[in-house]
Amino acid sequence: AKSNGKNTFHFYRPSMQLLADQHLAMERALHTALEHNEFYLHYQPQVDHNFSIIGTEALIRWQHPEQGFVPPDQFIGLTEETGLIIPIGCWVLQQACTQLAQWQEQKLCPPHFRMAVNISAKQFDHPQFLNMLSDVINRTGVDPNKLELELTESLLVKNMDATIIRMDAIRAMGIALSIDDFGTGYSSLKYLKQMPINQLKIDKSFVMDLLTDANDRAITETIIAMASHLQMDIIAEGVEDAAIMDLLVRLGCKHFQGYYFSRPVSAENCSQLLQVQKLP
Ligand code: C2E
Ligand code: CA
Ligand code: CA
Ligand code: CA
Repeated sequence: AKSNGKNTFHFYRPSMQLLADQHLAMERALHTALEHNEFYLHYQPQVDHNFSIIGTEALIRWQHPEQGFVPPDQFIGLTEETGLIIPIGCWVLQQACTQLAQWQEQKLCPPHFRMAVNISAKQFDHPQFLNMLSDVINRTGVDPNKLELELTESLLVKNMDATIIRMDAIRAMGIALSIDDFGTGYSSLKYLKQMPINQLKIDKSFVMDLLTDANDRAITETIIAMASHLQMDIIAEGVEDAAIMDLLVRLGCKHFQGYYFSRPVSAENCSQLLQVQKLP
Protein backbone atom coordinates (compact mmCIF):
# COMPACT_ATOMS: atom_id res chain seq x y z
CA ALA A 1 0.00 0.00 0.00
CA LYS A 2 1.02 3.59 -0.58
CA SER A 3 1.88 5.51 2.52
CA ASN A 4 2.47 9.10 3.39
CA GLY A 5 2.78 7.83 6.94
CA LYS A 6 1.27 5.16 9.10
CA ASN A 7 -1.78 7.17 10.01
CA THR A 8 -2.86 7.49 6.41
CA PHE A 9 -2.49 3.75 5.92
CA HIS A 10 -4.49 2.90 9.02
CA PHE A 11 -7.17 5.42 8.18
CA TYR A 12 -7.43 4.32 4.56
CA ARG A 13 -7.83 0.60 4.98
CA PRO A 14 -10.61 0.30 7.50
CA SER A 15 -12.68 2.90 5.67
CA MET A 16 -12.38 1.00 2.40
CA GLN A 17 -13.29 -2.20 4.22
CA LEU A 18 -16.23 -0.47 5.84
CA LEU A 19 -17.42 0.79 2.48
CA ALA A 20 -17.14 -2.69 0.98
CA ASP A 21 -19.07 -4.16 3.93
CA GLN A 22 -21.76 -1.54 3.59
CA HIS A 23 -22.09 -2.28 -0.11
CA LEU A 24 -22.35 -5.99 0.55
CA ALA A 25 -25.00 -5.45 3.22
CA MET A 26 -26.93 -3.13 0.92
CA GLU A 27 -26.66 -5.60 -1.95
CA ARG A 28 -28.11 -8.36 0.25
CA ALA A 29 -30.85 -6.03 1.44
CA LEU A 30 -31.76 -5.20 -2.17
CA HIS A 31 -32.10 -8.90 -3.01
CA THR A 32 -34.37 -9.35 -0.03
CA ALA A 33 -36.31 -6.22 -0.96
CA LEU A 34 -37.18 -7.70 -4.33
CA GLU A 35 -38.20 -11.04 -2.79
CA HIS A 36 -40.22 -9.46 0.02
CA ASN A 37 -41.99 -6.82 -2.05
CA GLU A 38 -40.41 -3.85 -0.31
CA PHE A 39 -40.42 -1.77 -3.50
CA TYR A 40 -43.36 0.23 -4.72
CA LEU A 41 -43.89 3.01 -7.23
CA HIS A 42 -44.91 6.60 -6.86
CA TYR A 43 -46.19 8.60 -9.81
CA GLN A 44 -45.48 12.24 -10.51
CA PRO A 45 -47.86 14.05 -12.86
CA GLN A 46 -46.61 15.93 -15.92
CA VAL A 47 -48.77 18.82 -17.10
CA ASP A 48 -49.25 21.27 -19.95
CA HIS A 49 -49.54 25.08 -19.61
CA ASN A 50 -53.19 24.66 -18.48
CA PHE A 51 -52.20 22.35 -15.61
CA SER A 52 -53.90 19.47 -17.43
CA ILE A 53 -52.22 16.13 -16.82
CA ILE A 54 -50.46 14.80 -19.92
CA GLY A 55 -48.52 11.99 -18.27
CA THR A 56 -46.92 10.58 -15.16
CA GLU A 57 -43.38 9.49 -14.34
CA ALA A 58 -43.05 6.24 -12.39
CA LEU A 59 -40.46 6.54 -9.60
CA ILE A 60 -39.27 3.63 -7.48
CA ARG A 61 -39.60 3.72 -3.69
CA TRP A 62 -38.03 1.40 -1.13
CA GLN A 63 -39.41 0.96 2.35
CA HIS A 64 -36.86 -1.07 4.30
CA PRO A 65 -38.34 -2.84 7.37
CA GLU A 66 -35.67 -1.43 9.74
CA GLN A 67 -33.95 1.40 7.85
CA GLY A 68 -37.22 2.93 6.79
CA PHE A 69 -37.47 4.83 3.53
CA VAL A 70 -34.38 4.66 1.31
CA PRO A 71 -34.35 7.20 -1.56
CA PRO A 72 -33.55 5.85 -5.06
CA ASP A 73 -30.43 7.99 -5.41
CA GLN A 74 -28.98 5.91 -2.55
CA PHE A 75 -29.47 2.50 -4.16
CA ILE A 76 -29.99 2.74 -7.94
CA GLY A 77 -26.23 3.19 -8.53
CA LEU A 78 -25.45 0.00 -6.62
CA THR A 79 -28.14 -1.95 -8.49
CA GLU A 80 -26.45 -0.85 -11.72
CA GLU A 81 -22.99 -1.95 -10.51
CA THR A 82 -24.24 -5.33 -9.31
CA GLY A 83 -26.59 -6.08 -12.17
CA LEU A 84 -29.59 -6.09 -9.82
CA ILE A 85 -31.05 -3.30 -11.94
CA ILE A 86 -32.04 -6.01 -14.45
CA PRO A 87 -34.64 -7.77 -12.25
CA ILE A 88 -35.53 -4.56 -10.39
CA GLY A 89 -35.95 -2.60 -13.63
CA CYS A 90 -38.10 -5.41 -14.99
CA TRP A 91 -40.26 -5.22 -11.87
CA VAL A 92 -40.61 -1.44 -12.29
CA LEU A 93 -41.73 -1.76 -15.91
CA GLN A 94 -44.17 -4.56 -15.06
CA GLN A 95 -45.61 -2.56 -12.16
CA ALA A 96 -45.89 0.70 -14.13
CA CYS A 97 -47.60 -1.10 -17.03
CA THR A 98 -50.00 -2.90 -14.68
CA GLN A 99 -50.97 0.52 -13.29
CA LEU A 100 -51.26 2.01 -16.76
CA ALA A 101 -53.50 -0.88 -17.87
CA GLN A 102 -55.73 -0.24 -14.86
CA TRP A 103 -55.99 3.48 -15.59
CA GLN A 104 -56.76 2.63 -19.23
CA GLU A 105 -59.49 0.24 -18.15
CA GLN A 106 -60.93 2.84 -15.76
CA LYS A 107 -60.86 5.38 -18.61
CA LEU A 108 -58.71 7.66 -16.48
CA CYS A 109 -56.06 8.40 -19.11
CA PRO A 110 -56.53 11.77 -20.80
CA PRO A 111 -55.93 11.88 -24.58
CA HIS A 112 -52.21 11.53 -25.44
CA PHE A 113 -51.45 10.42 -21.89
CA ARG A 114 -48.08 8.73 -21.40
CA MET A 115 -46.58 6.74 -18.55
CA ALA A 116 -42.84 7.47 -18.37
CA VAL A 117 -40.54 4.79 -16.98
CA ASN A 118 -36.84 5.32 -16.15
CA ILE A 119 -34.55 2.85 -17.90
CA SER A 120 -30.89 2.77 -16.90
CA ALA A 121 -28.22 2.30 -19.59
CA LYS A 122 -27.37 -1.13 -18.13
CA GLN A 123 -30.95 -2.25 -18.68
CA PHE A 124 -31.21 -0.81 -22.17
CA ASP A 125 -27.98 -2.59 -23.19
CA HIS A 126 -29.09 -5.95 -21.83
CA PRO A 127 -29.53 -8.53 -24.63
CA GLN A 128 -33.00 -9.50 -23.37
CA PHE A 129 -34.30 -5.94 -22.96
CA LEU A 130 -36.47 -5.85 -26.09
CA ASN A 131 -37.95 -9.29 -25.34
CA MET A 132 -38.69 -8.26 -21.78
CA LEU A 133 -40.33 -5.07 -23.00
CA SER A 134 -42.65 -6.79 -25.46
CA ASP A 135 -43.45 -9.52 -22.90
CA VAL A 136 -44.56 -6.91 -20.38
CA ILE A 137 -46.67 -5.11 -22.97
CA ASN A 138 -48.36 -8.33 -24.02
CA ARG A 139 -48.90 -9.55 -20.49
CA THR A 140 -50.39 -6.29 -19.22
CA GLY A 141 -52.23 -5.37 -22.40
CA VAL A 142 -51.22 -1.70 -22.27
CA ASP A 143 -51.43 0.52 -25.31
CA PRO A 144 -47.72 0.93 -26.22
CA ASN A 145 -48.51 4.42 -27.51
CA LYS A 146 -49.07 5.37 -23.90
CA LEU A 147 -45.67 4.19 -22.78
CA GLU A 148 -42.52 6.31 -22.74
CA LEU A 149 -39.01 5.27 -21.76
CA GLU A 150 -36.73 7.83 -20.12
CA LEU A 151 -33.15 7.13 -21.17
CA THR A 152 -30.01 8.95 -20.13
CA GLU A 153 -27.53 10.74 -22.34
CA SER A 154 -24.78 8.20 -21.61
CA LEU A 155 -26.52 5.91 -24.11
CA LEU A 156 -26.11 8.40 -26.90
CA VAL A 157 -22.34 8.41 -26.99
CA LYS A 158 -21.40 4.74 -26.99
CA ASN A 159 -22.36 1.99 -29.46
CA MET A 160 -24.20 4.50 -31.61
CA ASP A 161 -25.23 2.04 -34.31
CA ALA A 162 -26.45 -0.65 -31.93
CA THR A 163 -28.30 1.97 -29.90
CA ILE A 164 -30.09 3.37 -32.96
CA ILE A 165 -31.17 -0.12 -34.07
CA ARG A 166 -32.60 -0.76 -30.62
CA MET A 167 -34.31 2.63 -30.46
CA ASP A 168 -35.87 2.06 -33.88
CA ALA A 169 -37.23 -1.30 -32.71
CA ILE A 170 -38.74 0.32 -29.62
CA ARG A 171 -40.30 3.14 -31.66
CA ALA A 172 -41.67 0.54 -34.09
CA MET A 173 -43.54 -0.99 -31.14
CA GLY A 174 -45.22 2.40 -30.66
CA ILE A 175 -43.27 3.36 -27.53
CA ALA A 176 -41.93 6.91 -27.14
CA LEU A 177 -38.35 7.76 -26.14
CA SER A 178 -37.32 10.66 -23.94
CA ILE A 179 -33.82 11.76 -22.97
CA ASP A 180 -33.67 12.32 -19.21
CA ASP A 181 -31.48 14.84 -17.36
CA PHE A 182 -30.77 16.48 -20.68
CA GLY A 183 -27.83 18.89 -20.66
CA THR A 184 -25.91 17.13 -17.89
CA GLY A 185 -24.15 14.65 -20.20
CA TYR A 186 -22.11 14.99 -23.34
CA SER A 187 -24.44 14.39 -26.23
CA SER A 188 -23.91 16.56 -29.27
CA LEU A 189 -26.37 17.66 -31.92
CA LYS A 190 -24.64 15.29 -34.34
CA TYR A 191 -25.66 12.25 -32.26
CA LEU A 192 -29.02 13.57 -31.32
CA LYS A 193 -30.30 14.23 -34.82
CA GLN A 194 -29.62 10.64 -35.84
CA MET A 195 -31.63 9.18 -33.01
CA PRO A 196 -35.37 8.48 -33.09
CA ILE A 197 -36.05 10.48 -29.94
CA ASN A 198 -39.43 12.05 -29.17
CA GLN A 199 -38.59 14.29 -26.27
CA LEU A 200 -35.83 16.02 -24.33
CA LYS A 201 -36.26 16.49 -20.60
CA ILE A 202 -34.43 19.52 -19.22
CA ASP A 203 -32.68 18.53 -16.01
CA LYS A 204 -33.90 20.11 -12.81
CA SER A 205 -30.41 21.41 -12.02
CA PHE A 206 -30.91 24.00 -14.81
CA VAL A 207 -34.58 24.65 -14.09
CA MET A 208 -34.30 25.32 -10.38
CA ASP A 209 -31.98 28.35 -10.68
CA LEU A 210 -33.50 29.65 -13.87
CA LEU A 211 -34.52 33.01 -12.41
CA THR A 212 -31.16 33.86 -10.91
CA ASP A 213 -28.51 32.06 -12.95
CA ALA A 214 -27.83 33.50 -16.40
CA ASN A 215 -25.89 30.40 -17.47
CA ASP A 216 -28.73 28.06 -16.58
CA ARG A 217 -31.10 30.29 -18.46
CA ALA A 218 -28.86 30.27 -21.54
CA ILE A 219 -28.56 26.48 -21.40
CA THR A 220 -32.32 26.09 -21.03
CA GLU A 221 -32.97 28.42 -23.98
CA THR A 222 -30.49 26.47 -26.07
CA ILE A 223 -32.06 23.11 -25.21
CA ILE A 224 -35.53 24.41 -26.08
CA ALA A 225 -34.28 25.80 -29.41
CA MET A 226 -32.45 22.57 -30.13
CA ALA A 227 -35.52 20.44 -29.45
CA SER A 228 -37.59 22.63 -31.68
CA HIS A 229 -35.06 22.37 -34.57
CA LEU A 230 -34.94 18.60 -34.16
CA GLN A 231 -38.74 18.44 -33.91
CA MET A 232 -38.65 16.92 -30.48
CA ASP A 233 -40.98 17.68 -27.58
CA ILE A 234 -39.59 19.34 -24.52
CA ILE A 235 -40.41 18.95 -20.85
CA ALA A 236 -38.88 20.71 -17.86
CA GLU A 237 -38.49 18.86 -14.55
CA GLY A 238 -38.00 20.39 -11.12
CA VAL A 239 -40.51 23.22 -11.61
CA GLU A 240 -41.13 24.42 -8.07
CA ASP A 241 -43.03 27.69 -8.43
CA ALA A 242 -45.15 29.90 -10.67
CA ALA A 243 -42.34 32.31 -11.53
CA ILE A 244 -40.20 29.52 -12.99
CA MET A 245 -43.14 28.10 -14.88
CA ASP A 246 -43.94 31.55 -16.33
CA LEU A 247 -40.38 32.01 -17.51
CA LEU A 248 -40.32 28.51 -19.03
CA VAL A 249 -43.57 29.26 -20.87
CA ARG A 250 -42.02 32.47 -22.24
CA LEU A 251 -38.97 30.48 -23.37
CA GLY A 252 -41.26 28.15 -25.34
CA CYS A 253 -41.50 25.15 -23.01
CA LYS A 254 -44.83 23.32 -23.28
CA HIS A 255 -44.68 20.55 -20.69
CA PHE A 256 -43.77 20.65 -17.03
CA GLN A 257 -43.13 18.44 -14.02
CA GLY A 258 -42.30 19.45 -10.47
CA TYR A 259 -43.39 20.10 -6.92
CA TYR A 260 -45.31 23.20 -8.05
CA PHE A 261 -47.87 20.88 -9.67
CA SER A 262 -47.53 17.78 -7.52
CA ARG A 263 -44.98 15.72 -5.68
CA PRO A 264 -44.66 12.08 -6.69
CA VAL A 265 -47.75 10.41 -5.15
CA SER A 266 -49.11 6.91 -4.53
CA ALA A 267 -51.12 5.14 -7.23
CA GLU A 268 -54.33 5.81 -5.26
CA ASN A 269 -53.64 9.52 -4.99
CA CYS A 270 -52.62 9.69 -8.62
CA SER A 271 -55.91 8.02 -9.61
CA GLN A 272 -57.72 10.83 -7.79
CA LEU A 273 -55.70 13.45 -9.65
CA LEU A 274 -56.49 11.71 -12.94
CA GLN A 275 -60.20 11.81 -12.12
CA VAL A 276 -59.99 15.60 -11.96
CA GLN A 277 -57.48 15.63 -14.87
CA LYS A 278 -56.38 19.11 -13.92
CA LEU A 279 -54.18 20.10 -11.03
CA PRO A 280 -55.36 22.84 -8.69
P1 C2E B 1 -34.95 11.52 -12.21
O1 C2E B 1 -35.29 10.47 -13.20
O2 C2E B 1 -34.28 12.74 -12.72
O3 C2E B 1 -36.31 11.86 -11.44
C1 C2E B 1 -36.66 13.14 -10.97
C2 C2E B 1 -36.36 13.27 -9.51
O4 C2E B 1 -36.63 14.62 -9.12
C3 C2E B 1 -37.25 12.42 -8.62
O5 C2E B 1 -36.49 12.08 -7.47
C4 C2E B 1 -38.36 13.40 -8.22
O6 C2E B 1 -39.01 13.06 -7.03
C5 C2E B 1 -37.58 14.67 -8.09
N1 C2E B 1 -38.41 15.87 -8.29
C6 C2E B 1 -39.53 15.99 -9.01
N2 C2E B 1 -39.98 17.25 -9.00
C7 C2E B 1 -39.11 17.96 -8.26
C8 C2E B 1 -39.04 19.34 -7.87
O7 C2E B 1 -39.86 20.17 -8.22
N3 C2E B 1 -37.98 19.69 -7.09
C9 C2E B 1 -37.03 18.78 -6.69
N4 C2E B 1 -36.04 19.23 -5.91
N5 C2E B 1 -37.08 17.48 -7.03
C10 C2E B 1 -38.10 17.08 -7.82
P2 C2E B 1 -36.46 10.59 -6.91
O8 C2E B 1 -37.81 9.97 -7.02
O9 C2E B 1 -35.81 10.64 -5.58
O10 C2E B 1 -35.53 9.83 -7.94
C11 C2E B 1 -34.17 10.14 -8.04
C12 C2E B 1 -33.55 9.44 -9.23
O11 C2E B 1 -33.53 8.03 -9.02
C13 C2E B 1 -34.30 9.64 -10.53
O12 C2E B 1 -33.99 10.91 -11.06
C14 C2E B 1 -33.79 8.49 -11.34
O13 C2E B 1 -32.51 8.79 -11.88
C15 C2E B 1 -33.64 7.41 -10.28
N6 C2E B 1 -34.83 6.55 -10.33
C16 C2E B 1 -36.00 6.67 -9.69
N7 C2E B 1 -36.83 5.66 -9.99
C17 C2E B 1 -36.18 4.86 -10.87
C18 C2E B 1 -36.50 3.66 -11.58
O14 C2E B 1 -37.61 3.10 -11.48
N8 C2E B 1 -35.54 3.15 -12.41
C19 C2E B 1 -34.32 3.75 -12.57
N9 C2E B 1 -33.44 3.20 -13.40
N10 C2E B 1 -33.99 4.90 -11.93
C20 C2E B 1 -34.90 5.44 -11.10
CA1 CA C 1 -36.52 10.47 -15.01
CA1 CA D 1 -33.22 14.65 -13.45
CA1 CA E 1 -31.84 10.55 -13.66
